[in-house]
Amino acid sequence: MGAPEGFTFKISHTEKGLARAGTISTPHGKMETPCFVPVATKATVKSVLPETMKELGSQALLANAYHLYLQPGPDVIDEAGGLSKFMNWPGPTFTDSGGFQVLSLGMGFKKVLAMDASTFRADDVIALNKDRLAHVDDDGVTFKSHLDGAMHRFTPEISMQVQHQIGADIIFAFDECTTLHNTRRYQEGAVDRTTAWAIRCLDEHQRQSQSRKDSPYQALFGVIQGAQYEDLRRRAAKNLGEMVSSGISFDGFGIGGALDKGQLGTIISWVNQELPEDKPKHLLGIGAPEDLFVGVANGIDTFDCVLASRIARTSAVYTMEGRFNVSNAPYRRQFVPIDDECDCYTCLHYTRGYLNHLFRGKEILAATLATIHNERFIVRLVDQMRDALKDGSFLDLRSDFLARYSVRPVSSD
Ligand SMILES: [Zn+2]
Repeated sequence: MGAPEGFTFKISHTEKGLARAGTISTPHGKMETPCFVPVATKATVKSVLPETMKELGSQALLANAYHLYLQPGPDVIDEAGGLSKFMNWPGPTFTDSGGFQVLSLGMGFKKVLAMDASTFRADDVIALNKDRLAHVDDDGVTFKSHLDGAMHRFTPEISMQVQHQIGADIIFAFDECTTLHNTRRYQEGAVDRTTAWAIRCLDEHQRQSQSRKDSPYQALFGVIQGAQYEDLRRRAAKNLGEMVSSGISFDGFGIGGALDKGQLGTIISWVNQELPEDKPKHLLGIGAPEDLFVGVANGIDTFDCVLASRIARTSAVYTMEGRFNVSNAPYRRQFVPIDDECDCYTCLHYTRGYLNHLFRGKEILAATLATIHNERFIVRLVDQMRDALKDGSFLDLRSDFLARYSVRPVSSD
């Protein structure tokens, strides 16, 4: 099967092990990989202009199918000419399938990346939770809108139809996202459902692609589940990696679901050893600096995460030494940039003292300036990893960075 028109992935450099650098081409432009993809959940990176995202080095943006399905509705985005045109972002776009948002409703599993799986009891807590807002069956998921409480249903077919109407360059198969709370037995069922749904996604994707011939090519990525279990992860990766239905296979793969932070690299390496080497791999929802190094070292090409912008709005900002809260008292009279090694617009023009004032005064500009800095910090960090892969210095960059960077927030005392 030849590469689909409008979507290609070329690997230009490989490192010992699984790490690599390359280029993804889409109908809306190219991404040099590995790269970090900032999240524009509702077709906007909160508080920042798309032009500014471009200036700070963002190569692509990822929006959320669940949120855009509820508001403004995928038909509106379709009529506007697709996501890229609708949000005035001329570059590549992604949408996630909505599976994570639909399934996380009411389940309290925002922290998918748990610090330690061993602290959880092996209870099937989701099955016991009568107040949950989402219910999974073998055909799909019924859920209550977080906006108005109305009931909706997502199936693999509906997710594909919605993502085709939204029109991102890279879309994801509808999967059942579990948590580390689920039992082994439940994880097995979820992997089986996700595999069955993956076939239905390929079939519906092909139907949609054929009935919307004038629309730009959309690449479909399968999503690998299986939590912390080696046999489940490998089985899921092998099944989706080899899967062909309606004459097509997946263009790339997302690694999703419950990820135990201590095992992150091990889990990614299991999956990437099974998946076809020549297709791009995306790590869903992971964006802490130390985790990005783990992802790149184990063969991840693209990342998305809301963390950088979400914590920026609470005044948490990154530096090479770790992150700190610029609204804390000690920064009130510090008339220096957030990070003197950063080249972002905020660091070139503003001081910690000014940001401290904006956050304390609850000024909107605080969110804008802090988000610009954090997104630039993360985008640039992954860019530096890519450059290091190309000149063979990735392991040095990794050890130098981790020797300085504190994973725990830097004390403001
Ligand atoms: Zn900065």
